[in-house]
Amino acid sequence: MKCQICDKEVLNFKSLSSHLRYNHKQYSSKQYYDLFLKKDNKEGNCYLKNCLNQTKYIGIHGYNRFCCFSHAQLDESTQNKIEQTNLKNTGFKYISQDPKIKKKKELTNLKNCGETTNLKCQATKDKIIQTNRQT
Ligand SMILES: [Zn+2]
Ligand SMILES: [Zn+2]
Repeated sequence: MKCQICDKEVLNFKSLSSHLRYNHKQYSSKQYYDLFLKKDNKEGNCYLKNCLNQTKYIGIHGYNRFCCFSHAQLDESTQNKIEQTNLKNTGFKYISQDPKIKKKKELTNLKNCGETTNLKCQATKDKIIQTNRQT
């Protein structure tokens, strides 16, 4: 690969960034990336739909794809990956579909509030109301 500023041949991204540091002090690697390496305008912004946050520049390789960890988790493709992993591990797309886990949840609910589902549980209801009030 070549340094786009002076056309000097560099081995890889690592040598490019040190080349920039020594030879083109006026460019930060971020500026260089924005000028020459950025693939599209989406880069540097969170990939999650409707999120307008900017993402962190992590080095000459580019930007974080998401503004934060929870947005990365929310992203559909990540979601699919989680589903695939669940499917592989448990045979179900969602862990909550696993009867073993369902049963366990029911037992926990039963123990905590005398009902098998969380929704019937008064304590949970109160909690939901409280959370709604706070927001
Ligand atoms: Zn150069
Ligand atoms: Zn985001």
